Amino acid sequence: MREISVSLLVETISELCLEANLVLNADLYRALEKAVEEEESPVGKECLSNLVANADAARQNQLALCQDTGMVVVFAELGQEVRIVGGDFEAAITEGVRHGYEQGFFRCSVVNDPFLRENTSDNTPPVIYTRIVPGDTLRLTVVPKGFGSENMGAVQMLTPAEGKEGVKRFIVNTVLKAGANPCPPLIIGVGVGGTMEYAGLLAKKALLRPVGDKHPRSDLAELEDELLTAVNNLGIGPQGLGGRITALAVHLEVYPTHIAGLPCAVNLSCHSLRHKTKVL
Ligand code: SF4
Repeated sequence: MREISVSLLVETISELCLEANLVLNADLYRALEKAVEEEESPVGKECLSNLVANADAARQNQLALCQDTGMVVVFAELGQEVRIVGGDFEAAITEGVRHGYEQGFFRCSVVNDPFLRENTSDNTPPVIYTRIVPGDTLRLTVVPKGFGSENMGAVQMLTPAEGKEGVKRFIVNTVLKAGANPCPPLIIGVGVGGTMEYAGLLAKKALLRPVGDKHPRSDLAELEDELLTAVNNLGIGPQGLGGRITALAVHLEVYPTHIAGLPCAVNLSCHSLRHKTKVL
């Protein structure tokens, strides 16, 4: 049995929170640069250039990519041959978030209760998803999720007869309704199948795929392309100021489901899609 100490866990989560908020991933940075070339609207082009400059400034000056440093979502894949020692697993992740946000002087955006709404002042607790997997490693992914885009997500329980057309209609309508609110250009995560809540989780996980990487199944890759074209035909454009590039990518994930249902969820991310991973 391999042992991993909670102190290493705290340190790693803290580092991942800092890195995620300060350094835009290379795949997304490249996608923004490409979008500058492809955007036809002069205002849209300027917006996109500003986003590239913003990412440069954040990295060089060690400043947050966006003032909304999000609510932290943590995906942990814990090898079944690993034993966590020295304390509580979830408490350590929470401590790591607290430490990282304090170190980065990041905005604390989490309230203690959805109705009482007192700020916890340290951006905790995070939302934690843990999976037990084979092996002796611990893979940690930190996703600080801004709520301008999170608020615009949606789930719909479609009927099986609605099929791919129903999925397309739902996603395009969700993006249309969202307009400028989620800070386009977007990365659109789509989850189809499972149950209501699992479709939502699939949609969030879909955001973590490198931007623009296609689904390995050719029919689903085709659907992603069709969705991207349909969304970009809406004309919302960068920051909602009009243009071709409303979204940089659509990533779709599927899972087996019940004979009577077709759950479909869409999780939108703004251009400031932040996530970092480390394997211990
Ligand atoms: S949606 Fe994204 S870019 Fe817009 S304010 Fe929130 S984190 Fe920032």
